[in-house]
Amino acid sequence: MTQPYRLFFALWPDSELRDRLATLAHEARRHCGGRATPPDKLHLTLAFIGEAGAAQAESLTAATRRLCMAPGTWRLDHGGHFRGGGIVWLGGDDGAETLTALHRRLAALAEAAAGLPLPSDRPFRPHVTLRRRAKPPPAAWPGVTLDWHYRRVALVASSQRDGQHRYRTLAVSETASG
Ligand code: ATP
Ligand code: MG
Repeated sequence: MTQPYRLFFALWPDSELRDRLATLAHEARRHCGGRATPPDKLHLTLAFIGEAGAAQAESLTAATRRLCMAPGTWRLDHGGHFRGGGIVWLGGDDGAETLTALHRRLAALAEAAAGLPLPSDRPFRPHVTLRRRAKPPPAAWPGVTLDWHYRRVALVASSQRDGQHRYRTLAVSETASG
């Protein structure tokens, strides 16, 4: 039976970073073709949870609001390509270990709070999808560095209607003070 929710944990950029990511996504068209991610959908998936029932979504919403995380920085300085889907992405190694630790923590939270183990054991590869159905970018792309200062994790529900994807934020975590 189809469950009412399709959930994932993500970081959402602030408006300044979003605009810079959107510009890079737009400029990559010349080399890569394909379709840019709409600016309001640019994000980093920290943990994809997948289908969930209403009670599970509610438990996880409450657990996310209680979650307290330290702020961090992820440096975006290189691009890449996933052949399946023709994904052009932006990523970086500086700060990635902290994101991997966060990924593990969120996986444990989904299991403990809502009995939802992560559906895939794909290794976590932090990336921001900039274009889809696109060709690989040149090796030197993007040639700029962006620092992503994050403070909060969002629990997001994804739905599809008339072929259009929608993301809805159900909860955001707290931020550690100090
Ligand atoms: P589409 O499926 O049309 O590409 P989408 O990927 O934006 O749209 P979802 O499929 O709901 O929407 O995925 C939400 C987020 O979770 C996206 O960032 C997606 O890349 C990621 N994601 C989806 N499936 C998995 C998976 N099995 N493992 C890891 N991440 C996933
Ligand atoms: Mg998808």
